[in-house]
Amino acid sequence: MLDAKTAFFMWSAQALTLSLLLFVVWLHDRSQRHYLLFCIGFALNSLGGISFNLRGYAGDILTIYFSNCLVLLSLCLWANGLRLFEGRKWVSWPAIPAALWLVANLFPPIYSSFANRLIVYALGSALGYAFLASTLVSSRLSKPRYRHMLAGLWLVQSGMALSFALYGILGHPENFAGIPFLGGMILLFIACMLSTFVLLSKIIMDRNEARLKLLSVTDPLTGALNRRGLIEAAHTLKHNTTKDRLLALLVFDLDHFKTINDTHGHQVGDAVLSSFAEMASSVVANAGTHPKGLFGRSGGEEFCTLIPVENLRQAAGLAEQIRTMVANTPIVIHAHTVRLTVSIGISSINAAQFDFDTLMSQADHGLYKAKADGRNRTAIARGESVYCIGPGLEPGSPAAIDQDADLQVAALRRLTQRQLHSDT
Ligand code: GH3
Ligand code: MG
Ligand code: MG
Repeated sequence: MLDAKTAFFMWSAQALTLSLLLFVVWLHDRSQRHYLLFCIGFALNSLGGISFNLRGYAGDILTIYFSNCLVLLSLCLWANGLRLFEGRKWVSWPAIPAALWLVANLFPPIYSSFANRLIVYALGSALGYAFLASTLVSSRLSKPRYRHMLAGLWLVQSGMALSFALYGILGHPENFAGIPFLGGMILLFIACMLSTFVLLSKIIMDRNEARLKLLSVTDPLTGALNRRGLIEAAHTLKHNTTKDRLLALLVFDLDHFKTINDTHGHQVGDAVLSSFAEMASSVVANAGTHPKGLFGRSGGEEFCTLIPVENLRQAAGLAEQIRTMVANTPIVIHAHTVRLTVSIGISSINAAQFDFDTLMSQADHGLYKAKADGRNRTAIARGESVYCIGPGLEPGSPAAIDQDADLQVAALRRLTQRQLHSDT
């Protein structure tokens, strides 16, 4: 059967090749630091195997103490590579197996006994692979099927390590030659590692594909959905909204945005667009609707929100919350203070009859009226009629009550004049 040195040599050569491959991938895009961690992980694994093979030629510190530590450290780097790949933070607990090995070998009864070293290393390795499996299972990478397959492979490796630990306890081997199943186990280990590489490549490809898909539906300046993303997400929202509910479309157009660009420059203009998107999207996200509303940039300085509502009053309330928030929040960018206002058009439709284009042209109709009435207004389009709410004219505000009173006085006056005419 295969002896330990040949097997470790075979694996070291493969791990080194994989490490070089990952290094080239990382060089291609250095922002993808998980590739670097995977690369260093394979390099340490390979170096561990190479230093193991130097047994008899170099000191025990290198060939036993450090070689095993390097291999256990590689598991820590892979676990953190997986975390980084998903945007999660680096954690230090995957380094426990390597630390366990280093500390345990400070005790002579362990360091001087092959069987005890085998037990400690195997337990560390079992723990390291279990950590890897749990990191993957708790992630959202790729499809659950691939995650579970790879986690399963790592649990097999963990189980293999445990069988070595068990043999160390029961069989008291004095060297590798004293482990009867070693050759078979190493072949199985190499098969597992190569399958790991194939599955990991699949998971990385899936993730990159998902990232490209996300980029294609995201506006790069504001991070909001772009027009294509809005249309796609609108169809999903329609399906997730109960048929008898209303879907309201709010169309936002920043007022006199050209003047902001001309006065403060395009860069400030860009920052103002981002600030508006941040304010408006946070209001939409916290509106408490189920499902949540969408927010996107439909083009230039125009944005829109599609949201399930109970009635038009709720949609108008949301629009007014955004309009007043924008009007009352000066945007400070470097030395520039920009006062921004926004005009909003609203339309709504029953979820069952949802049609994006119809809804958009109705909301645009409202927006046109909001602009024509002086901007910084919300206009609700309903069929042919448009109802406009503006600053100081919010329902219940003093100006709105005065305006209502004026209208009533005028109506009374017209009525009395008509009566006077009929009397004469
Ligand atoms: P109104 O109140 O009638 O909406 O006036 P406005 O100036 O906002 O509208 P207009 O359509 O005349 O101008 C829109 C401006 O928005 C012109 C264009 O240069 C600017 N704009 C569009 N996209 C961007 C962008 O990505 N960045 C910056 N900085 N400006 C943009
Ligand atoms: Mg516009
Ligand atoms: Mg505008």
